[in-house]
Amino acid sequence: MNKVCAAGTGSFLEEQAEKLDIKITDFGKIALEADKPARLGDRCTVFMESDLNAHQQSGVKKESLISGLAYSIVYNYILKVVGKKRIGNRIFFQGGVTNNKSVIAAFEKVTGKPITVPPHFDVTGAIGAAILARKTIKGKETKFKGFRRSAASYSVNNFTCKYCSNQCEIRSVKIEGEDKPLFYGGRCERYEVEERKGKGKNIPNLFKERLNLLLGDFTEELPDGRPTIGIPRGLMVFYQQFPYWRTFFKELGFRIVLSSSTNRKLITESLEKQQAETCFPCGVMHGHVYDLLTKGTDYIFLPSIIDSKAEKINPTKNYNCPWVQTFPYMARAGLRDNEAVKKLLIPVFHFKYTGKILNKEISSYMSEKFNISKAKTLKAMKKADRTQTEFERKLETRGHEVLKDLPEGKKSVVIIGRPYNTNDPEMNLHLVEKLINLDVLPIPIDFLPLSEENIYKLH
Ligand code: SF4
Ligand code: SF4
Repeated sequence: MNKVCAAGTGSFLEEQAEKLDIKITDFGKIALEADKPARLGDRCTVFMESDLNAHQQSGVKKESLISGLAYSIVYNYILKVVGKKRIGNRIFFQGGVTNNKSVIAAFEKVTGKPITVPPHFDVTGAIGAAILARKTIKGKETKFKGFRRSAASYSVNNFTCKYCSNQCEIRSVKIEGEDKPLFYGGRCERYEVEERKGKGKNIPNLFKERLNLLLGDFTEELPDGRPTIGIPRGLMVFYQQFPYWRTFFKELGFRIVLSSSTNRKLITESLEKQQAETCFPCGVMHGHVYDLLTKGTDYIFLPSIIDSKAEKINPTKNYNCPWVQTFPYMARAGLRDNEAVKKLLIPVFHFKYTGKILNKEISSYMSEKFNISKAKTLKAMKKADRTQTEFERKLETRGHEVLKDLPEGKKSVVIIGRPYNTNDPEMNLHLVEKLINLDVLPIPIDFLPLSEENIYKLH
């Protein structure tokens, strides 16, 4: 359990308690008063949270929601962590969540077995870590402050870090007799890990380089009478195809407006606005669409992209995931009672073979919607395709340089995943910066010469 994945942790329960306006210390007592727990599923906490919102909106009682949360934590743990492993008869429950009597009760009810809670249950992990540290350090001098530190007085100050859009609430703990305060609460390690500062200084941030190449010569221009088209900063329309669409629309006389970078506020809004459960990246797209609405663009471009470009010599099917294909309809459903729904542009495009089919799809759409001639659209498409190809070529060229010259004595890792997750720092909890701080070089997957690998026969 850690702060990256909230599954089953006390921090998730604490957040939900706060949301339901109860103290975490009252959680267990209130949950045990419920007649019937709400069914909040057994999936990860992101989904639990959206189920909780839906039940709350439909008027389910607070105590049922809270006991439902306790059960969901248990079902999720048994399904995802225990999996097919056998559950024995002697069950030992440790960790801070053990403070919550309703979770213990739910475990007993679901397993039908007694649960043993050890003394010092909330620090068993720390005790284990201390034993391992003692074995590793083997009598060498350490920075251990001694047990008497627990008797020292301390003061806690809170402040909001404004260094990036996350605006984390940081707690600074000043302990009597110590010069430097301790920090916690940040989503990155800006304050917390003093010894790591300065590490990773010579490691290039290839993800920032990729973003710069993706944006190319794009700058947000001031209103000048041209129609504005909003492009959400998410999924493949931005993280994979932005060079194409920025060139295409600019060429056809549109002014392009991007939604804000993903941030905590935008994520919270997305979770409130989404109508149905989706994966996180699609959920967050709702926030980007609403952000563009507040920016007042004339249109919001949400193409349903069925498949992706394939090389003729490597003609894999390249279908996009159903969520990517259908997200635009979810966004439209969310806005059905809103005038703004008219702003959404939802064409269906097949990029598998750029050629006749795509030419027809895009030119017909632009003619129908904006009365733009086929010749003009095709000219813009050609230019857009050149920019996109150039972008992809630059990624590979930079990748070749990086692979040829990997930093000696340091680790390098390729971050595998969808570009809209691996390149959005807020979506991946600043993974790239964290690795760089550890003196590790993270490499975007599309820096590798992937097109050289023919997977047609395997696919
Ligand atoms: S993520 Fe780091 S830099 Fe950004 S607000 Fe939080 S602590 Fe500050
Ligand atoms: S492939 Fe992407 S869009 Fe599809 S479910 Fe996974 S993260 Fe979501």
